[in-house]
Amino acid sequence: HAKAQGRNRQQFYAQQIGDAVSQRLALERDLRAAVAAMDFELHYQPKLRVDGGLAGFEALLRWRRPGHGPVSPALFIPLAEQTGLIDAIGTWVVQQACAQMAAWRDAGLGEVPVAVNMSTSQLRDPGLVAWLAGVRQAHGIADGQLEMEVTESMMMDDPEQAILSLEALRQQGIHLAIDDFGTGYSSMGYLKRIPVHTLKLDRVFVAQVDSDARDADICAGMIALAHQLGLDVVAEGVETDAQRAALAARGCDVFQGYLFARPLPVAEATRYLLACAPTARSGP
Ligand code: C2E
Ligand code: MG
Ligand code: MG
Ligand code: MG
Repeated sequence: HAKAQGRNRQQFYAQQIGDAVSQRLALERDLRAAVAAMDFELHYQPKLRVDGGLAGFEALLRWRRPGHGPVSPALFIPLAEQTGLIDAIGTWVVQQACAQMAAWRDAGLGEVPVAVNMSTSQLRDPGLVAWLAGVRQAHGIADGQLEMEVTESMMMDDPEQAILSLEALRQQGIHLAIDDFGTGYSSMGYLKRIPVHTLKLDRVFVAQVDSDARDADICAGMIALAHQLGLDVVAEGVETDAQRAALAARGCDVFQGYLFARPLPVAEATRYLLACAPTARSGP
């Protein structure tokens, strides 16, 4: 009897593993098809300065998986990285964001800054800097208008190479931000050497900045450190006015989060731009 139970359990686990493998394979197959058709969208989430003016947008990738609905980039970006699909996706994201900045400029909406998220393999690509210069030139993107967000963990496997790449990007007029700041390793060691303009405070610190004294102190400390180094601070995931006020009181420069706006499809982002005061969209 016990033996039979053990066998059943083994079969049960084997089937579970089999299901997980086939689900992953199906996801990979659909992602491959999406890349072949470039069946993605960029949504644009506003970032606002303390005075309420628009600082720019962050471009966030959206994939509507046929038969499943929207899939979180937190789920499919890692798969894209493991399968090498990220290179084609990353190329498309930069081209798309630059084309959108050009379209907004040509529509008289100003030189709106847009930030895109970079992957490790993009940063490792020795052709990145020259390629980016070409894309920017083709679309007439101004200095400082295109921003790239990198995470601390992207520095990990080859910090020296990463710093050289970031230095070259900066010299080419690309703004650089450290994303999810405070959640990676060796924040302080690299901060000293990474040539970035902006530090994005991760949502985990923002969530209780208004209610937890330790989180409030951590935010205050990171903001002071960033300012000491000449960096701007963007708070991610601001959902309540109490969080906004607590961050503003500690000197935070820019806010991003559902309190202001969700990531918006192009048509809505354009309406958002049109509704901004002309001074708010005078460019970087
Ligand atoms: P991230 O770069 O840190 O982006 C911020 C995430 O927080 C986005 O999730 C955004 O929708 C979400 N968010 C914004 N405001 C709020 C808020 O007030 N509350 C909460 N709870 N969440 C908020 P999303 O769009 O699901 O993206 C997840 C991650 O996927 C991004 O984190 C980024 O690491 C990655 N990602 C997104 N688009 C791209 C891309 O084009 N390329 C690469 N390599 N990665 C991307
Ligand atoms: Mg980001
Ligand atoms: Mg982030
Ligand atoms: Mg994040």
